[in-house]
Amino acid sequence: MRWTTRALDVEDVTALPGLGRISGLLRSVRSPDFAGVTFHEVLARSALNRVPGTSPMPFRWTVNPYRGCSHACVYCFARGTHTYLDLDSGQDFDSQIVVKTNVGELLGRELAAPRWRGEPVAMGTNTDPYQRAEGRYRLMPAVIRSLTDHDTPFSILTKGTVLSRDLGLLASAAQRVPVGLGVSLALLDRTLQASLEPGTPTPEARLTLVRRIVDAGLPCGVLIAPLLPHLTDSREQIADLVGRLRDAGVSGVSGIVLHLRPGAREWFLRWLGVHHPELVGRYERLYQRGSNAPQDYRRMVADRVASVRVELGLPAHPAPFRPTGVPGYRDAGFPPGSMPEPRRAPRTGVADRSAHAGDGLAGAVVDQAAEQTLF
Ligand code: SF4
Repeated sequence: MRWTTRALDVEDVTALPGLGRISGLLRSVRSPDFAGVTFHEVLARSALNRVPGTSPMPFRWTVNPYRGCSHACVYCFARGTHTYLDLDSGQDFDSQIVVKTNVGELLGRELAAPRWRGEPVAMGTNTDPYQRAEGRYRLMPAVIRSLTDHDTPFSILTKGTVLSRDLGLLASAAQRVPVGLGVSLALLDRTLQASLEPGTPTPEARLTLVRRIVDAGLPCGVLIAPLLPHLTDSREQIADLVGRLRDAGVSGVSGIVLHLRPGAREWFLRWLGVHHPELVGRYERLYQRGSNAPQDYRRMVADRVASVRVELGLPAHPAPFRPTGVPGYRDAGFPPGSMPEPRRAPRTGVADRSAHAGDGLAGAVVDQAAEQTLF
């Protein structure tokens, strides 16, 4: 769906940086309902992203209806992918959102290819498919229908309460294919959340989302991520959160310690300097060797999560992106050349470099996977 021009201010695309890199651009629009956000509506040339074979992630295919994310989490590790569009990984990531207006229809065509083997498709691995714009663009229902119609298991990880709009559809889909739903929630402190994740629904709203998912008869795991050193990592904080999650009916929890890859690192440390300057030195020491906190620290936090989880009788959520009912992701992929190979023949309509959207994703999820093994 595209918004009508009556409700929008149509931008002069030449006035914005980076748009020469967004191929398939239909128009750029703003809405009074989304102050400061510009949506770049594109006709994408492919919907499925293939995760490189070297990735340890338990899925090989992803769909990202949006690039950029108005949830604006300061720690978001996908920030760096926006630079492929010649947009910056800070404010532009939060406010210059690429919308693949034809993603559902396109996905249906790709999944109809005779050699599609129905491998699981993961969503919410790079940007949030239920960010606020989804309330207006309504891209996900067509995506869900396409996946279901083509017997393709799928998973969704989100912070967005817009997902509750599609619960009926998701419950129907789960009758036919394995569906995995996960909510991302790492803290209960409303003040910290508003500062750290300024575009996201409140923790209470996300707990309500968990309850709604469970009430719809769908299992819901929660990814506690990222756990922030010295801010949200105490045993008491973790126990409070996991207790609320248990009461909300989650089927399992897992956690990930903050990961600071380039793109997110600068943005996060700037935020830390403003809001918690007393912690800057400690973070610089913790992350002096790279994107990960030291292994000892990650183990300690993992032990805390595990002990709280066991104490409260909750299982580990085996993999936040894994559809329930899929005993193991099939290793079989597409035979070479059987499906669009973006690296060789870009088909996405987002940008020339959108052929590398998968690369960006892969970079992000590889690192995430490395940490997932801790929990
Ligand atoms: S919701 Fe996810 S994709 Fe969106 S900004 Fe936050 S961490 Fe990034």
